[in-house]
Amino acid sequence: MPPLLQVDEITVAFGGRRALDGVSLAAEAGRVTGLIGPNGAGKSTLFDTVSGLRRPGTGRVRLDGRDITREGPARRARRGLSRTFQHLELFGRLSVRDNLLVAAELGPCHRRAARTTDAVLDRLGLTGTAEAPTDALPTGIARLVEVGRALVQEPRVLLLDEPAAGQDAEETEHFAALLRSLAAEGTAVVLVEHDMSLVMAVCDEVYVLDLGRVVACGPPSQIQQDETVLAAYLGET
Ligand code: ADP
Ligand code: MG
Repeated sequence: MPPLLQVDEITVAFGGRRALDGVSLAAEAGRVTGLIGPNGAGKSTLFDTVSGLRRPGTGRVRLDGRDITREGPARRARRGLSRTFQHLELFGRLSVRDNLLVAAELGPCHRRAARTTDAVLDRLGLTGTAEAPTDALPTGIARLVEVGRALVQEPRVLLLDEPAAGQDAEETEHFAALLRSLAAEGTAVVLVEHDMSLVMAVCDEVYVLDLGRVVACGPPSQIQQDETVLAAYLGET
């Protein structure tokens, strides 16, 4: 069986510069796949390409073996691909609940949007803050709202772009447990994150991107000891 999400030899250029240069990656259902690398490595661009916001110059994106490279973002979302944004894309004057509700109403569960929203609020521990406008929230909580907007779509593949940035230690610990429980339910989670202890704790497999290329890939224990990775990334921090 093919992996749920398969990215083959993706190339994306901005002007003459290649932000992604032949990137391949697989994300399996029931696993947390990490994607790490220094700023500018191409991580967010890869998410843009997978979610349909950017067409690659060459290469293919497959979901369940089906080639979706030419499909738009809405279609891909209906097929079960959801993402969060590194730069939060919340409606600041709407409440936490309404931010989720709007996303739920656009998703495959739109007929039970309110129920789905309440279930996700509860799961994220946001029920108590549901009526607060999101522009008044601390970043750690706003990140959770962004994740909630993706979760109400009940995704099969969940792409998370630096979801723990701004979370404190306790929030990150809860978040790690959430990621493991999503994977246990069969979701393919792809995690872009700079918090290495989080990445190493929750990921089944980690890809390392540097200057638009995958320079290493393997289980966390192996990645932590990889010389190329230490040089490209871990040594830098
Ligand atoms: P990361 O998420 O790993 O920090 P990005 O995917 O945001 O990296 O960026 C990869 C490279 O592509 C960087 O050199 C960045 O400057 C460039 N880039 C990203 N988006 C654009 C854009 N819209 N126009 C031009 N260059 C871009
Ligand atoms: Mg980024």
